[in-house]
Amino acid sequence: SSVFAGIAQAPEDPILGVTVAYNKDPSPVKLNLGVGAYRTEEGKPLVLNVVRHAEQILINNPSRVKEYLPITGLAEFNKLSAKLIFGADSPAIQENRVTTVQCLSGTGSLRVGGEFLARHYHERTIYIPLPTWGNHPKVFTLAGLTVRSYRYYDPTTRGLDFKGLLEDLSSAPSGAIVLLHACAHNPTGVDPTSDQWEQIRQLMRSKSLLPFFDSAYQGFATGSLDKDAQSVRMFVADGGELLMAQSYAKNMGLYGERVGALSIVCGSADVAVRVESQLKLVIRPMYSNPPIHGASIVATILKDSNMFNEWTVELKGMADRIIRMRQQLFDALKTRGTPGDWSHIIKQIGMFTFTGLNSDQVAFMRQEYHIYMTSDGRISMAGLSTRTIPHLADAIHTAVT
Ligand code: PLP
Repeated sequence: SSVFAGIAQAPEDPILGVTVAYNKDPSPVKLNLGVGAYRTEEGKPLVLNVVRHAEQILINNPSRVKEYLPITGLAEFNKLSAKLIFGADSPAIQENRVTTVQCLSGTGSLRVGGEFLARHYHERTIYIPLPTWGNHPKVFTLAGLTVRSYRYYDPTTRGLDFKGLLEDLSSAPSGAIVLLHACAHNPTGVDPTSDQWEQIRQLMRSKSLLPFFDSAYQGFATGSLDKDAQSVRMFVADGGELLMAQSYAKNMGLYGERVGALSIVCGSADVAVRVESQLKLVIRPMYSNPPIHGASIVATILKDSNMFNEWTVELKGMADRIIRMRQQLFDALKTRGTPGDWSHIIKQIGMFTFTGLNSDQVAFMRQEYHIYMTSDGRISMAGLSTRTIPHLADAIHTAVT
């Protein structure tokens, strides 16, 4: 007998649960397109050369200790992270209006930002896109915010529902928080154009809606760190305030190291100081202070111009391979004469393709082809290779005909 005997079995996480099911499948042709982690052409996880190099430097440094970091994390890492996303010449940084704290990857940054807002911001409603990354509603609800959604994706065009987005943000209460994917929207792979971003910015600023950017894929969408930060920089350039959650999981391949940062761009330097003092009160009882190793890797790379350049080359290599996979899958379906318009595969951007396959077709492909993806039909392009694309194309072809 147990005092916990009455506890019900919880369901698997809808994204991570895909891998659990995949691991149980004995088929030699099985394919995991569920989780958003980069794989090489050989299907292997990748540690970037520049990351191995940085780790060597760290290990060989005899003065390196394992003391606690401050509550806010590694100061050098925080500075470099703000520069990376906002740009080296960002006026907000020069005016000391940005406070940055190291957090547990993107998820931890969102959670700390959410809890800070729930405690100190006057409007507790956050609008998230429909659909969005499955963890967003849970993170923000548990942070103490009220979650609502705004229209984002139009299944008929497999593109942005721009009209719906503007309507929903127009009718949001003044001051509401709005979660925006900085680039490579997950799960749809659909981003606003620059012109559309500009209209979103104008609308949000005119209604005093507070932007909360989630940047989990900087450099992964186009292969350029600066291009993928364009949306964010537009909102900083107008002098307004915002929150920014940054992750190094994908763009440096540091998934399990849990390295990320929360930045809050404030109206003035003295507000930024007070905001940071309150962020410390959020963090201290949650996990005290963040881990040192991953942030040290990132700082080592970002502060050295040679290593930084080496990183951008490797990053572009990952982005380009994903773009090639898009083209190859599109071509494979065309060759098979698979019914339907599949051009969204090459139009969408980032790690995922939102295929448009329904949950029955997803289940069919798992059953008959041992191909695993989330039930919304999202596939990780990073999990594909030239070798596995024919198998996937066969499966899609059969599923839709
Ligand atoms: N936000 C989005 C949109 C994501 O897709 C992810 C990861 O898949 C994250 C945040 C957070 O990831 P992590 O906590 O591993 O940095």
